[in-house]
Amino acid sequence: MDTDERIARDSVVAAARDLDVQGLNRGTSGNVSVRFRDGLLITPSGLPTARMRPEDIVPMGLDGTHPPDQKPSSEWRFHRDILAHRPEIGAVVHAHPVYCTAFAMCGRDIPAVHYMIAAFGGPTVRCAPYAAYGTAELSELALAALVDRNVCLLANHGMIAAGASLEKALWLAVELETLCHQYAVALQVGAPVILSDHEIHATVKRFRGYGLNAPARA
Ligand code: 13P
Ligand code: ZN
Repeated sequence: MDTDERIARDSVVAAARDLDVQGLNRGTSGNVSVRFRDGLLITPSGLPTARMRPEDIVPMGLDGTHPPDQKPSSEWRFHRDILAHRPEIGAVVHAHPVYCTAFAMCGRDIPAVHYMIAAFGGPTVRCAPYAAYGTAELSELALAALVDRNVCLLANHGMIAAGASLEKALWLAVELETLCHQYAVALQVGAPVILSDHEIHATVKRFRGYGLNAPARA
């Protein structure tokens, strides 16, 4: 393993741990991948992040091949498919955070109840219909829900965030869970007001220079 690969593997382990620290994942739920050379590096299946070491990270080709003695995340298909179909994406994060998953359990899209939804690319966050975990069908449904978006919910399962970098994908995951938390509380307070598509499209443009989107930090 050369230095670049070691650094990339370290960043995948750090991101998987960060999902736990931020309260977005518990136990062995969730997984992380990053584009690396002609393929990707992905977390192993079913290993608690506290026990995860850089050597456990699985190198995979875009054709799905990997060392036979290693078991990649059961969700390698959607990680691989997102990276293969979306050249602007460099990292994918999947988690089962409580508020995202609560809306996903109800099969509900998230409407524009806060301008921050613009960070995800448009006026809604779609919820992909249910398919069993780890299947090619789930990957297909997730890719469709991610058209013109960098996040989606997965019905009765969780969420996906995809960014140019791991840092960006983690940031999007935290922002999506925050939005879902705020929306859940707002639904208890009253009837949330939905911002217009026009308003959100204008905010999407303004977001292109904001935070991790800014060209200097992309
Ligand atoms: P893995 O441990 O195989 O990555 O699976 C966790 C998960 O969230 C499946 O959807
Ligand atoms: Zn999952």
